[in-house]
Amino acid sequence: MKTLSLIVPVFNEQEVLRTSYERMKATMESLDYGYEIIYVNDGSRDDTLVQLREIAAQDKKVRVRSFSRNFGHQLAVTAGMDIAKGDALIIIDADLQDPPEVIPELVKAWENGADIAYGKRAKREGETFMKKFTAACYYRLLSFMSAYPIPLDTGDFRLIDRKVADMFLQMREHNRFLRGMSAWMGFNAVPVEYVRHERFAGKTKYTLKKMLKLAFDGITGFSDKPLSISTALGTGICFIAGLGLIALIVCAIAAGVPSWLWAVDGIVMLQGITMLLMGIQGAYMNRMYDELKGRPLYIIGEEINID
Ligand code: UDP
Ligand code: MG
Repeated sequence: MKTLSLIVPVFNEQEVLRTSYERMKATMESLDYGYEIIYVNDGSRDDTLVQLREIAAQDKKVRVRSFSRNFGHQLAVTAGMDIAKGDALIIIDADLQDPPEVIPELVKAWENGADIAYGKRAKREGETFMKKFTAACYYRLLSFMSAYPIPLDTGDFRLIDRKVADMFLQMREHNRFLRGMSAWMGFNAVPVEYVRHERFAGKTKYTLKKMLKLAFDGITGFSDKPLSISTALGTGICFIAGLGLIALIVCAIAAGVPSWLWAVDGIVMLQGITMLLMGIQGAYMNRMYDELKGRPLYIIGEEINID
């Protein structure tokens, strides 16, 4: 029998954990698969770990990894992926914003051949206008910046096939943006629309600082555009200063030009050259960064008659 691994990162979720466990358990039982539920406790300071110990004592399908401190949601999910044994892995938030009842739909997409079935938020309930607005802007900025299409309005709620999970095991970069890595890998990715509910209880554990870091990791990990801003700007400025120089020469021949104008043009030109050189350095840094990330050079989706 094929098995599913449910991966649930938890950070200070004492208000939701029990209910969340019961609903997830009921969903997993309703499917015709073996399963495990992996909780990764991301350094909770409340009763979460105590509750997890109780749940795991009664339910042998529940496995728990507990961090020594808070490492952040993306690393918690990664730690779950690292020990998951399933033929497919499902990543889900503990707070029931991603309804466990959508899991059977993700599984169905997988049965129909999807390697990645990602939850796409058709609607977001109970989130502030500000959160929805900034999220909408960010996703669009990211997809403009990124060389690989990162689907709009998706989070980490998704099912991934074993072969995708194995690729995640090979990508050990530190500043992780899982949904970007997933998009970068390609494979047959299929959206499954769902309504994102309100948090069941408790408050968001994603502070503004954590959210900004994730947003920045998304851009720096999947786009080299920021590094080439300098090149573009420097080239533009040099061009304008060059035109200025021609204009100055013409004016000098015709009528004589005040000396400070030469100085201004010289400064602008130098500034442009500096930026251009910075951009060139950026290009080398970008290449070093690529090497440092140590991602696999390519990913094979399928092989036939290869031994
Ligand atoms: N989470 C985590 N570590 C953190 C922050 C969050 O493991 O540092 C977990 C959290 O317990 C939840 C999931 O990640 O299961 C999503 O967090 P949250 O619901 O607070 O984020 P939001 O939905 O508000 O973006
Ligand atoms: Mg949430």
